[in-house]
Amino acid sequence: MSGFQDALTAAFGSDRIRRNVSLAGLTTFRVGGPADWLLETRTSEEMLTALELARRDGVAVTMLGGGSNVLIADAGIRGLVIRPRGGSIDRVDQAQVRADAPVTINGLVRWMILHGAAGLEAWAGTPGTVGGAIFGNAHFGGRSIGELVASVRLADRDGATSDVPGGAMAFGYDRSRLQDTREVLLSATFRVAPGDPAALRATARASLAFRKRTQPLETPSAGCVFQNPDPRRDAVPQGVPYSAGALVDRAGLKGSGIGGARVSPTHGNFIVNDGSATAEDIRRLIELCRAEVREQFGVELREEIVYMGVF
Ligand SMILES: Cc1cc2nc3c(=O)[nH]c(=O)nc-3n(C[C@H](O)[C@H](O)[C@H](O)COP(=O)(O)OP(=O)(O)OC[C@H]3O[C@@H](n4cnc5c(N)ncnc54)[C@H](O)[C@@H]3O)c2cc1C
Repeated sequence: MSGFQDALTAAFGSDRIRRNVSLAGLTTFRVGGPADWLLETRTSEEMLTALELARRDGVAVTMLGGGSNVLIADAGIRGLVIRPRGGSIDRVDQAQVRADAPVTINGLVRWMILHGAAGLEAWAGTPGTVGGAIFGNAHFGGRSIGELVASVRLADRDGATSDVPGGAMAFGYDRSRLQDTREVLLSATFRVAPGDPAALRATARASLAFRKRTQPLETPSAGCVFQNPDPRRDAVPQGVPYSAGALVDRAGLKGSGIGGARVSPTHGNFIVNDGSATAEDIRRLIELCRAEVREQFGVELREEIVYMGVF
């Protein structure tokens, strides 16, 4: 693979290509092994160049955003990990705001509040980037971010770009078409309405306060591990809410642990890392929760988090 290394170096300079670098610090779980290559791109054009070089040499590409919804294997990720950084936010017109993939959701919320653009304020406190939020259709308080997407700019793995209306993104609970097509998100345009910054700030603060009250924010985690059961697919026993956290809780698993991983005593759907957890500990604890919930309630929990690398 020295040809690929040479091509990356020629395109980006040797100081920007990192070899065999640990990814743990780039995830909110704080676990995970090394990437063969890690490149932090600064523009969409750089992302396209990197995709093209990898395609030419048959190197696998993994996109990493804020690392807040992933569990990276202890053995790491083979191939190239692209981590887009920076990016800008523009007001397209009174009704639309465009943001590049690496813009953080919190940065975008702050920008919108400052500019009196209503829509995303309730997502305040959601870790991660626009890229990751669109990939998994980030949700809060019963609403999903896809509802606000007017259009997106995508690149396929051959580097061809296209502008796609939000309605063609196959948004669903924790889902977008990116999970099937493996397209890369370059930017997203959100529908906004005029809003009073003070009122928007109050909504954002209420979301932040809710998170602080209900989530173990002081300990590394990846947010909710499991999707909530789907009333159309899953039968939950009477009297039990359609909530993965409630099922884990009622299965008596809150506080239980494997190695350095533990089901949060605060929130049954969060697994936290006490600082010494491996990805394998977390993975085994996830399997334990799934098995107990299946056994006790007959419900098969599905992951919300994304596994990366080989387990
Ligand atoms: C404390 C805490 C609270 C959370 N609360 C919420 C919540 O309220 N609601 C919610 O929905 N989630 C929540 N999450 C989960 C997480 O914040 C979201 O899923 C977030 O949108 C992930 O974004 P990210 O940039 O970190 O993506 P990553 O974790 O880096 O990646 C997730 C997936 O997106 C893909 N991806 C990233 N960027 C791109 C791109 N440009 N193009 C294509 N694919 C891409 C990755 O390949 C990966 O498959 C929480 C997490 C934590 C730690």
